[in-house]
Amino acid sequence: MLLDSKRLAHFISEETGLPFSPSHGVNPDNDRWISFVPDGYERARTFSITLTLKFRRLLIEFVPGAFAADLLRDMSNADEVGKQLFASMVTECARLGASSEIHVNGSVIPILDDIPWDAQWRRFAWIVNKGAVEIGAEDASPDEDIVRPWLSRFSAGVVALLPLEAEANDEQLNPEGLPEGAKSRVEVNRYERDRRNRAAALAIHGYSCLACDMNFEKVYGAVAAGFIEVHHITPVSEIGENYRVNPKTDLIPLCPNCHAVVHRKKPPITVDELRALLNHGGEQ
Ligand SMILES: [Zn+2]
Ligand SMILES: [Zn+2]
Repeated sequence: MLLDSKRLAHFISEETGLPFSPSHGVNPDNDRWISFVPDGYERARTFSITLTLKFRRLLIEFVPGAFAADLLRDMSNADEVGKQLFASMVTECARLGASSEIHVNGSVIPILDDIPWDAQWRRFAWIVNKGAVEIGAEDASPDEDIVRPWLSRFSAGVVALLPLEAEANDEQLNPEGLPEGAKSRVEVNRYERDRRNRAAALAIHGYSCLACDMNFEKVYGAVAAGFIEVHHITPVSEIGENYRVNPKTDLIPLCPNCHAVVHRKKPPITVDELRALLNHGGEQ
């Protein structure tokens, strides 16, 4: 599938729960760019996520709006969950071979621990730079599969720092408006409900059910892109006061069927057990 800015905007909207609008063009160096801006954000809170397709190189950049003082204040005041998730996404990008540059108030921040959260942010930028990607000068458009996972990781890192949880409700988590019964069928805990956790976990693990391999987009097409549930696997007994959810080890994607089945027992059935059940027609 060739790169299409509208499709990409649809995907990151589904993945983050924030509606994005795309625009695209060519910069003075003749590089193609695609930019995404959240819909309905006031001037003081707006930002853009911009992909630039260079020769064999992909740049993704977060740029706050020119007057987005409120946004910068909110981001520097991100809660511990948000800071941790942002760090997870920067680390994940590094693990997969991309470098990150983080700038606060004009200074480059060399390591994550040095991010001055307590300072008053007047400027902030995050740029992910991935080389050795198959984007050539000759290609009119690279394959969507190359670009999309990077955009997912990046947008998960961005939403981690946005003040979203207060507005997150069932409707946003289930935008198609599931009937009440369906909503309560799987009793999700707060780690599974937090859409920042969700975006980070899915950017790491992908959108296929870890138990049965179901991928809604592959089965139903673009309309189902980004549709999957997130299951929190860490036993409640292991959750102490200082517990910080790790989207890589604590959260996994499960389809609604498998998710409902793992919660048929307390503590939940493990994914390995569920896979074994699936492989043997329910007989252990
Ligand atoms: Zn499944
Ligand atoms: Zn669950």
